[in-house]
Amino acid sequence: MPSVDYDAVVVGSGPNGLAAAITLARAGCSVLVLDAADTIGGGLRSKPLTLPGFIHDVCAAIHPLAKASPFFRSLPLADHGVTWVEPDAALAHPLDDGPAVLLERSLPRTGAAFGADGDAYVHLMGPLVRRWEPLMDMLLGPLRLPRHPLLLASFGLRGLRSAGALANSAFTGQRAQSLFAGLAAHALLPLDQRPSAAFGLVLALLGHAVGWPLVRGGSQRLADAMVSYLTSLGGEVQTNTPVASVDDLPPSRVVLLDVTPRQVLRLAGHRLPTSYRRQLERYRYGPGVFKMDWALDDPIPWRAEACKRAATVHLGGTLREIADAEEAAFNGQHSERPFVILAQPSLFDDTRAPARQHTAWAYCHSPHGSTFDMSERIESQIERFAPGFQERVLARHVMAPAALEQYNSNYVGGDISSGVQDLRQIFTRPAIRLTPYTTPDKKLFICSASTPPGGGVHGMSGYFAAQAALRRAL
Ligand SMILES: Cc1cc2nc3c(=O)[nH]c(=O)nc-3n(C[C@H](O)[C@H](O)[C@H](O)COP(=O)(O)OP(=O)(O)OC[C@H]3O[C@@H](n4cnc5c(N)ncnc54)[C@H](O)[C@@H]3O)c2cc1C
Repeated sequence: MPSVDYDAVVVGSGPNGLAAAITLARAGCSVLVLDAADTIGGGLRSKPLTLPGFIHDVCAAIHPLAKASPFFRSLPLADHGVTWVEPDAALAHPLDDGPAVLLERSLPRTGAAFGADGDAYVHLMGPLVRRWEPLMDMLLGPLRLPRHPLLLASFGLRGLRSAGALANSAFTGQRAQSLFAGLAAHALLPLDQRPSAAFGLVLALLGHAVGWPLVRGGSQRLADAMVSYLTSLGGEVQTNTPVASVDDLPPSRVVLLDVTPRQVLRLAGHRLPTSYRRQLERYRYGPGVFKMDWALDDPIPWRAEACKRAATVHLGGTLREIADAEEAAFNGQHSERPFVILAQPSLFDDTRAPARQHTAWAYCHSPHGSTFDMSERIESQIERFAPGFQERVLARHVMAPAALEQYNSNYVGGDISSGVQDLRQIFTRPAIRLTPYTTPDKKLFICSASTPPGGGVHGMSGYFAAQAALRRAL
């Protein structure tokens, strides 16, 4: 047996890299995590992007997936400094006419605000909400024999449709249709494409089952807690260490890469057979994200009071408008009226800004790799529902899709899902294999969001990649 320094080296300290490292350390392995950046956390980092005293989540801010993830639920997060903050409502969706639509923790209360569509909403979501735990256990993972086939089939019947088709067949009114369209737009797919409905259903379900929480102090605290727990298990983490080739790593039994196929090819392409390399070369990335952060001298002046009850606000109006904006971004166009996903953490967490001042975070989908400045279009969508917003801005920070990739090379072209999540790629990411986390090199594994279940902070890609490594080589 050749001598090794570690059982496992993990490249990348995003939530999936850290989840892989923790899973291995829990199994008694020695683990080293390396990251190119000067701080740990990947998509979980928080930084003072605007003015001193204002803390902004650079990437992920809202954590229904982490709260519901079987991996995160197994961690002693509170012992390592994580406090979940749950706003009164998960999401607000203002419209030009009438009160804002709210996704509330209570299913009947949410349905009641939909008028004639109320019963249909409760009928659609009720069975899923009642069995959210086994359902999320099956959805947050690779394709495998389901433990609850009927439950999965009942979800699949609805989720494997396009969001537009589901919203139009289930609901007759604009309020329920618009809310569902905004939820489904997180798929980064056109809303007439399958399985965009699945994203809408999952995010609505999580709103009722666990809420859409944020982390007190910023998402960085979640990464810090993961590292604190990992080091308590004997794991090591090193920042400021960009890895150019897997050949440069300290000797180990296995290597897990928290990176996307493009970087796998760069780091380890020479160790992989042509047929597998071709699959990685064909991997498709989706539209990017144009991200903005603001320091504000007052809360956002929403016209609809109800918007103050939620940390997340969807700005895009009706299903038709949101569908047009998403289709434009997917097809390489910059929408005049983008669909904007906004978070207002400081309304619920007073650690984010100096006394009486506030932060806001928002993004819209924008063409892959774009450098076009969407900031005026984003701010005019906010002004549409919160007149006077711009007068409250003390400072702003912007990142176009191209800048997002420079910030973190996993966001190729600004794609925050680390690859298109359509039917052709959601289950077979990054390549067609029985266990998608493995590669033809028996020592090499992929653990990023480019493996099932895909984008978001859930740690499940890392967990399953570590399980594959334990089975195969440790
Ligand atoms: C603007 C934005 C908003 C988002 N909002 C949310 C949200 O609210 N909720 C949510 O659940 N998700 C959200 N996401 C998505 C979420 O952040 C990602 O899906 C998640 O972080 C993916 O985790 P990961 O571990 O696969 O990769 P990442 O978190 O991207 O981590 C990869 C790490 O690998 C490191 N790395 C890459 N290459 C190398 C190399 N060669 N050598 C060394 N280190 C390397 C990087 O520095 C990085 O730290 C958002 C993302 C963005 C960008």
